[in-house]
Amino acid sequence: MPIAFEPFTEDHEAFRRVVRELCERELAPHARAWDEAGIFPRELFPRFGELGLFGIRHPVQWGGSGLDYWYVVAYAEELVRSRSAGLNMAMLVQGEMAIPVIADLGTEEQKREFLAPAVRGEKIAALAISEPDAGSDVAAIRTTARREGDELVVNGSKTWITNGTRADFLTLAVRTGQPGAGGLSLVTFPTDVKNFGVSRKLEKIGNLASDTAVLFFDDCRIPRRFLLGEENQGFAYIMANFQGERLVAAVLAVSAMQLMLEEAKRYGRERHAFGRPIASMQVWRHKLAEHLSSLEAARWLTYRAADLFNRGEPAVKVISMAKLVACDLAQRVAYDCMQLHGGMGYVVESEIARAWRDVRLLTIAGGTSEIMKEIVSKAEGL
Ligand SMILES: Cc1cc2nc3c(=O)[nH]c(=O)nc-3n(C[C@H](O)[C@H](O)[C@H](O)COP(=O)(O)OP(=O)(O)OC[C@H]3O[C@@H](n4cnc5c(N)ncnc54)[C@H](O)[C@@H]3O)c2cc1C
Repeated sequence: MPIAFEPFTEDHEAFRRVVRELCERELAPHARAWDEAGIFPRELFPRFGELGLFGIRHPVQWGGSGLDYWYVVAYAEELVRSRSAGLNMAMLVQGEMAIPVIADLGTEEQKREFLAPAVRGEKIAALAISEPDAGSDVAAIRTTARREGDELVVNGSKTWITNGTRADFLTLAVRTGQPGAGGLSLVTFPTDVKNFGVSRKLEKIGNLASDTAVLFFDDCRIPRRFLLGEENQGFAYIMANFQGERLVAAVLAVSAMQLMLEEAKRYGRERHAFGRPIASMQVWRHKLAEHLSSLEAARWLTYRAADLFNRGEPAVKVISMAKLVACDLAQRVAYDCMQLHGGMGYVVESEIARAWRDVRLLTIAGGTSEIMKEIVSKAEGL
């Protein structure tokens, strides 16, 4: 059987050009300043909303475009050109991590109150799963939501929450039942509720332009109708939602590697030592050839995962493989590209220095590489 697989049509490419132009003209020139400020302007949320970037695959009825997943792939691939990994993470949390589950499971009211304004970029969304004592081990979540009449009373704490300092609402994981995976639920949680607060903003080593927060809930009352889907089915919803998050992380890793290698080729040709360009030395030619080959393999594994996801086929194993391979490879690519840059690679103004520190997150957030190996080995019956 012939293999001819070109996922991107002319329409995808036209969309890709819109995102690239946005990144190169409006975002990249400010990337360093936003890193230094530790935040980017809030107005960029409505700007992204206006361009339809939060609603790519979400229903038209709620302001989305109802497009296929390859548009999301093109969006995430180009977004890396903003050179602001922090901004990219914040925007992808909004459109691809916090709201898909509302689009899938929310009631009309939840879609009107949370999904539609998030798609427009008027409200900032965060996904609040992780806790001080529960990261990889999602089933260990302790934040509770106790039922009182028509209300849920939320108590507990969340940590590492992207967009956490300024989110207007959270897609929040809470314990509503028994210990373990069977007692979790998801709720939509407006952050103007009494006794909710931001304990602090975490200082990070990379992704500096995104805010990452510790949150607290102290007898916070929300209507019980803010439950997403069925009570105590939250673990399955969270695991399903993770698939989009992990896939987009693999896409980001592939695209970040592409940029790092392009930059290394350019620098290696320009920079001379011992009378010749660095890139002409066999050690670097081979290193780059090796990484470009591995990148190609990671890209097509990621596209395979995206194809399965796009067609609604079982994709958990391949998505986990893609995240594992692409995000691990990005570490080695970043290391070698930085090494090729010599001293220039160690100064913050160089793109490679920022990329090196930013890609480090990829093997940690949204499920670590070790957890990806657990999923793959279980899927293989090991
Ligand atoms: C910048 C940033 C942004 C984030 N944004 C969000 C967000 O918006 N929302 C959110 O909910 N969370 C967010 N997170 C949290 C992130 O998803 C978790 O940090 C991640 O899932 C890992 O959990 P942990 O940090 O508790 O590590 P732990 O679970 O404590 O793991 C520590 C180490 O042990 C390893 N380990 C754990 N279990 C196993 C096992 N079974 N086998 C082998 N090794 C194992 C891990 O791989 C890791 O190396 C963010 C984190 C960061 C750093």
